[in-house]
This record gives sequence, C-alpha cells and structure tokens, in this order.
Amino acid sequence: MLTGGDTIFGKIIRREIPADIVYETDKVLAFRDIQPQAPTHILVIPKTHLRDLTDANTNDRELLGELLLAVAHIAKSAGLTESGYRVVINNGAGAGQSVFHLHLHILGKRKFAWPPG
Ligand code: 5GP
Repeated sequence: MLTGGDTIFGKIIRREIPADIVYETDKVLAFRDIQPQAPTHILVIPKTHLRDLTDANTNDRELLGELLLAVAHIAKSAGLTESGYRVVINNGAGAGQSVFHLHLHILGKRKFAWPPG
C-alpha cells in the first residue's frame, strides 16, 4: 500500500521525488539521508503514514517489529555491526523531528558520544 502521507517522505514512497533507496519491502522503505550526519546515514520508514512513534498503536505492532528488523538487516548489509551503529528516532519537534513521518535514523562509521546532543 503506497499511502505515504503528505510529507517529503510520502513523495519518496510514491516515487514523486528521487532517493537513494537501499532496502524495500511491501511495508518498509530505506534510503540514504540527503544531509548525512555520519559516513553512513540511512533512514528507515514505514510506507504507511505514522506521524511519529506516539501515533502508533497495537495495530502497528507487526510494522514496528518489521522496522527494527529492517534496521538490523540494513546495518548488517552496510557493514556496521562490528564497529557499532546508532539508531535514533527524533520524536516530536522538541526532540528535533523535522519530517513528520515516522523514521529511524541508522548512523554509522564514526564515533558517537553519550549522552547524545
Ligand atoms: P528528523 O530531523 O525529522 O529526525 O530527520 C529528518 C531527516 O530527513 C533529516 O536527517 C534530513 O536530512 C532528511 N531529509 C529531509 N528531506 C529529505 C529528502 O528529500 N531526501 C532525503 N533522502 N532525506 C531528507
């Protein structure tokens, strides 16, 4: 189902604008971030529109599981497992979310500080 929603990510899902797609299933799409914050920076999104994690409910249980399994699969394919990688969900504008379509950032191939900024 290519609903996508009314954000830039919806346009990517519907192929209205291009993206460097690295992984796709019927429910999930992953593509490289246009403004990478690490040598590897990939976004993993559901093809159906969820504004953020708070927008999800128990009906999305399987989809949320698929998103996390996609992250692990992509991280493996991108050679990130040995060095480690960071997975980030900016949830709400106050946490830095700028595109209101749920997405998981996969960041890798650089050092990461904790606590995050
Ligand atoms: P947020 O700040 O919402 O957590 O992350 C949104 C991310 O989407 C940012 O890292 C930003 O660089 C990325 N982004 C915004 N517009 C586009 C686009 O048109 N194409 C791609 N590939 N990434 C985008």
